[in-house]
Amino acid sequence: MTCFIYDGYGDAFALRDGVDFDIYSLVVRQVPETERFQAHDSATVDEIEKTLAHEYHHVYARRYLLGKQDTTATLGKQWIDYFLYRIVSEGVAMQCNPSSGFKRRILEDTATVAYCLAQLNEKFAGLKNGTISGDEIDKWSQANSDQTARQLLTDYLKRNFPEDKREELFQLHIIDRPIFEYVVGWWMITRILKMPGGKDRVMEILSSPEKILEYYNESLPPNSPEMRVTFSY
Ligand SMILES: [Zn+2]
Repeated sequence: MTCFIYDGYGDAFALRDGVDFDIYSLVVRQVPETERFQAHDSATVDEIEKTLAHEYHHVYARRYLLGKQDTTATLGKQWIDYFLYRIVSEGVAMQCNPSSGFKRRILEDTATVAYCLAQLNEKFAGLKNGTISGDEIDKWSQANSDQTARQLLTDYLKRNFPEDKREELFQLHIIDRPIFEYVVGWWMITRILKMPGGKDRVMEILSSPEKILEYYNESLPPNSPEMRVTFSY
């Protein structure tokens, strides 16, 4: 089932068996306010289809990706599985509607990606050896889409734009702020897809999400230590 709503609160997301599509956020808001109700051709049927494909990927891949969840594993391991599920789910879904422009540039910004990968290495290792509590990781996870993502956007603007432009750009691109699972998922899946047999590897990852770490490391050129995953599942 696809629900079309008009509230401007979110964009599109997967429900348990369907997809919610916010027409206001994804169509109307794409047009400057003064022209909003005159020119709807800036959001094409093609873009709408791609967004729905992204969300339907979440719906249909859920059963495979979550099928592996081991409820007898340690809490730390269950958290790692949850993050891997999110990383793979977003990384694959984003192939349906690849970002462009500013959003694409910040998603692929080396410093942003390196920061998120360092976080993955640190937090996953802590979860595996039990030095990070459930409470701490819950806070970390929530901050990823909020304070941390805002900070990464601020830092990116500082590195790339003059000071007098930053505040305006921050407001304009707050929706494009880099969120951990999206940055890591897009980065890893895109690299793996470019490897020989990449598509088959990604199909395999859909039922064994932990394989993303190994295949991703294989995709790296030598001498890129800041981009490597040092955590082993
Ligand atoms: Zn998504």
